[in-house]
Amino acid sequence: MGAVERIPCGFVNCYLIRNGDAAVLVDVGLASSRDKLLNIMKENRVKTVFLTHGHSDHTQNAAYLVEHTGAKVAMNFLDVPLLATGGAADLQSRGVSGRLLRGATSMMGGQRSEIPSFTPDIDLRDGMSLEPFGLDGTVIGLPGHTKGSIGFLLRTGELIVGDALMNMFLPEPAYIFEDESLLWESARRIKALGDVQVFFGHGKPLANAKWHLAEKKNGSREEKE
Ligand SMILES: [Zn+2]
Repeated sequence: MGAVERIPCGFVNCYLIRNGDAAVLVDVGLASSRDKLLNIMKENRVKTVFLTHGHSDHTQNAAYLVEHTGAKVAMNFLDVPLLATGGAADLQSRGVSGRLLRGATSMMGGQRSEIPSFTPDIDLRDGMSLEPFGLDGTVIGLPGHTKGSIGFLLRTGELIVGDALMNMFLPEPAYIFEDESLLWESARRIKALGDVQVFFGHGKPLANAKWHLAEKKNGSREEKE
């Protein structure tokens, strides 16, 4: 059985990773999901929250959940500056889907994109072992969507990618990003991980072989199966 459980929170996914008695929550969603997540954290005695990146839809409940559970927050500190702004201002977009998404993201303004302030405790870097958190896996650096985007690769064959890839319209590298060349580099890195199950920040999980079919090839988009 896999170690990763998907927790749909509106249009964004959070995940619970379990290994024996250890449990980590990955991403914390928007305010509307905070009590659901608090219950899950209490039930599973979650002591650490991982954040895949600094956008508000993945981080908004961090302060609330920390206050009520005493959990530590671990993320890549390159994304700390985004916590003050929600991060929408720094985004570029690709294609029609990207323009729509970027418009929607910046319209989220006001309360929805606000991130109640918290101070992350642990700086997660590419290649770090997850053993200190009781998990069997490593941190994978996946910059591009944001500078500090990270994923989590588990020995059980599961990979949480945050928004490095999205499965909203088609499963593809994110339509919105801070650095497009890094985004594609991270996508190639994911592809090279071979036979793993990919868990997205948005949309349903897929086998790793399924998403890259939509990658650009010779300037045109390869047909989906
Ligand atoms: Zn994002």
